[in-house]
Order: sequence, then structure tokens, then C-alpha cells
Amino acid sequence: MLENTENDGVQMVDELPLILKLNANTEPLEWIDYEDYAYYASTNKILDSMGKFRVMLRGGINAVTGKQSILELDSIIIVDCDVSPHSYRNHAPALTNPALFERDRNTCGYCGRTFKRKDLSRDHIHPISKGGKDTWKNVITACVGCNRMKDDMTLEQAAAKFDMELLFVPYTPNFHEHLILKNRRILVDQMEFLMKGVDKDSRLHHNWN
Ligand SMILES: [Zn+2]
Repeated sequence: MLENTENDGVQMVDELPLILKLNANTEPLEWIDYEDYAYYASTNKILDSMGKFRVMLRGGINAVTGKQSILELDSIIIVDCDVSPHSYRNHAPALTNPALFERDRNTCGYCGRTFKRKDLSRDHIHPISKGGKDTWKNVITACVGCNRMKDDMTLEQAAAKFDMELLFVPYTPNFHEHLILKNRRILVDQMEFLMKGVDKDSRLHHNWN
């Protein structure tokens, strides 16, 4: 996450973060980049902004005037569009290791300790070899050691043999959480906005609030 500085509500950045786009009902829809932002601005589609900060990017030096160009953007914008977030919500977040580790906050679901990502793996709670599926609800972050120990045992077998148990319940991230997991460079005000819509049981709340 990027740090917002309180200086006049403006944050200087060297690389543009993504901008959070909301519909007229202030429901979040997607992350957009500067080109989309410029399009909405030039077509007067931006109705309002909900960010606490504006983002400023230092551009190139103009060869004629010698002045440095500055781009100033709102971090969260309301765009004039009828789109309901439901059309986005139908897309379940892609199950990738980085998204899974993010969902579980880099915490092993069996020993409960946190690890660096390189020491983590995707464990299929009900093993693929026994008919388990590669879905959000059947996967948990596991450290390499726990994953090796559990091997291709079911939860019941691992409990009987090693006293291993699942410490938290796997779930499919909701749409707000999906947006959080998708963007590695979320601004503080964007995070605050999105966290309001994240299920209270989500592990994202463990490292936030
Ligand atoms: Zn572990």
C-alpha cells in the first residue's frame, strides 16, 4: 500500500496508482488507469470524487517553457454510467497464488504462522488426487513444511495422523475484496473505502483497522 501524506491533501507519486471507479450509486466497479481517467475527464463523465487525497504525478519538462508538467488526479471517482457492479461480480476473482496468499494474509492455515511468499504454497484441503477441486473454497495457504506433511491426505487423515487441523475457513473473496486483491498499489483512502464492503470475517480485517 502507498502512504498518503497529509500535505494539502495532495500526494506526490513517481508512478501513477490505479484510480478506483465508482458508478453513480457510489458502488465500486473497477480500477482504471490514467488513459481511462483522461477519457472520462475529457467527456465530462466524472460526476464527483470521493477520495480524501489527490494524486500528483511529476511529468516531463516541457522543452519550450522549461516547466515540469504535473498531472493531478482524484484517487476515487464517480463516473456517470449505469453499470451495476453485478455485471462485474459475476466474475469470480481468479485463483492465483498471490491472491490466495493475500486472502490468507501470508498465514499458514495449519500452523498459523506467517511466512514470506516464497515459503508458502497452495494446499488443496481435499486433495486433487482424491477428487478435490482447485477452487477458492478448497484451497488454503500452507507453509512448505505443513504442505509436505499433509501430503495428499484428507483433513481427517491429517488430523488422525499428525493432529493437524485447519485454523481458518477458506472462502471466495467478495467483490470488494477482489478489487483489493487485484491491486498491489492501493492508496490508503482507496483501501479505507473498499474495506467498508469487505465481509467482517475476512482475514483482511486482521491486518487492517
Ligand atoms: Zn505451516
